[in-house]
Amino acid sequence: MDLLDYLKAKIQNSNYPVVITGPRITFPSDTLPFKANYFGHSLNDILSLDFLQSNYEIFIKTCILIGEWNKKKPNYIHESIKELDIPIITENIDMLHTIAGSKKVIQLLGNIQDFVCTKCNFSIPFFQSKKYINIHKPFYCPECHSPIKLNIVLKGEAIRNFHHALNEIYKADTLLILGSDLDRWPINKLNQLANKQGSKIIIINEFKV
Ligand SMILES: [Zn+2]
Repeated sequence: MDLLDYLKAKIQNSNYPVVITGPRITFPSDTLPFKANYFGHSLNDILSLDFLQSNYEIFIKTCILIGEWNKKKPNYIHESIKELDIPIITENIDMLHTIAGSKKVIQLLGNIQDFVCTKCNFSIPFFQSKKYINIHKPFYCPECHSPIKLNIVLKGEAIRNFHHALNEIYKADTLLILGSDLDRWPINKLNQLANKQGSKIIIINEFKV
């Protein structure tokens, strides 16, 4: 049975199925980039407010590298979820659900499509940022010279759209959790709530590459 048929079977008797997705749907193998080494640090460590403040040069160089994920295309998992046509709550920052054509996507951690200033309103799409960016020297806001970052939620910053996500979970009688470890507070509250209210929960973390 392929993934789409499997998921359809799981939600066929559900009135309001919802899916939470995490990085393992974009990177189905074990070689998750979050565990990879960037300039001697893990991505997990770098994408934090503390790291931005203490080591901006490595921070911004890493942002430039992961901005290249904007070239990624949706895979069979994104396509299957799109076919289900159900609300999506995602930890992913790559926009691949939207690119696959999914309509209702709640992004908890922002996305990598733009660079934004940490102080003023300056923002620029990643692919137009090359005129400012040179990986050999740190890049600051051209308006106010403050540090910039991809438009993502760093560790130490508040999760976005959490109340929208909660609203969906309240309505969900079935919750699919695909490719997420749900190890980040308060995202882990979502499946705890679903569990508490008796929603059916289906977790899939292994995908063929
Ligand atoms: Zn600025």
